[in-house]
Amino acid sequence: MKRRDFLKSGLGAAALCGTAGVVSEAEARPNLEPAEEAVGMLYDSTLCVGCKACVYKCKEVNGMEPTYRDGADYYDSASDLSGDTLNVIKIYKDGNGKYKDAEKNGFAFEKRSCMHCVDPGCVSACPVTALERQNRTGIVTYNPDACIGCRTCMTACPYNVPQFEYDETFGQINKCQMCNQKGVERIDNGQMTGCAEVCPTGATLFGTRDALLAEAKKRTALKPGETYNYPMGDLSKPDSYHEKAVPDYKDHVWGEKEAGGTNVMHISAVSFDKLGMPPLEERSYASVSEGVQHTLYSYLALPAVALAGLSFVVKRNADSDEGGEQ
Ligand code: SF4
Ligand code: SF4
Ligand code: SF4
Repeated sequence: MKRRDFLKSGLGAAALCGTAGVVSEAEARPNLEPAEEAVGMLYDSTLCVGCKACVYKCKEVNGMEPTYRDGADYYDSASDLSGDTLNVIKIYKDGNGKYKDAEKNGFAFEKRSCMHCVDPGCVSACPVTALERQNRTGIVTYNPDACIGCRTCMTACPYNVPQFEYDETFGQINKCQMCNQKGVERIDNGQMTGCAEVCPTGATLFGTRDALLAEAKKRTALKPGETYNYPMGDLSKPDSYHEKAVPDYKDHVWGEKEAGGTNVMHISAVSFDKLGMPPLEERSYASVSEGVQHTLYSYLALPAVALAGLSFVVKRNADSDEGGEQ
């Protein structure tokens, strides 16, 4: 190979490598849109009386044992999500804790379960598609047979929802699948979720995401003190209604936009930071991480292209050297 050709090869490679500099900064892809027939739940904290019927029903539907504490084996006392608990009711308390739904000297309930994100971080992070967003309903389901136990989904969830069964030899991930997992399929069979079915006040309401969002916005726009007929069960065909004075709702539907939106939405008279919700931007985690991945692949691809180009030039020159050049 001639010195001239070597320099040419080097310059060619440098030119190819130089193009790496024009690759744009990591850009997030757009958030996913809600599924066409997205279903979800609306949890109205002001209607919740903390009875935990939803916690019990959830365990029944999902075949999970009650969680006992302090030797009290007559009452499920799960205090947080775990491998045995997919749905839990938590409480906010301030001062003397006398007044319901008051931030000062008051208390309020908050439901914790999978929010069924519109653009789920857990689905994006799972390397083997053990977690999937269902095309039609938007429900985020889990396939234990596909799961390899890497627990990446646990770090990718903004709500700290997926829980690993650390007590089991071959533990798996557990999270609410909106009562529609294989073998349960309540939604596919035209039923509502177990927690919405048993809720005695309509604090957990089942329905399509669109209808629930409209209901949530209607409620938060009502005048405090006026009477409203609250539907119970399935919003498309309520079991019954109950009349109640409207509380002083915060003008915020949690899950309309947070981290790309969720199919399970919450409303409350106490601000969501007090109820332990995390501060979230409108961008979904998945849109950012997949954007970064895409850009990184572009960066990684360029040196590969440069190397291929360099190899080609070197080979061509070597071939022509063999052809008799000195
Ligand atoms: S709340 Fe967490 S576990 Fe549920 S869909 Fe969203 S990212 Fe996944
Ligand atoms: S939808 Fe089903 S699995 Fe999810 S919290 Fe409600 S009862 Fe539990
Ligand atoms: S069943 Fe309804 S009222 Fe009772 S704790 Fe659950 S959400 Fe609240």
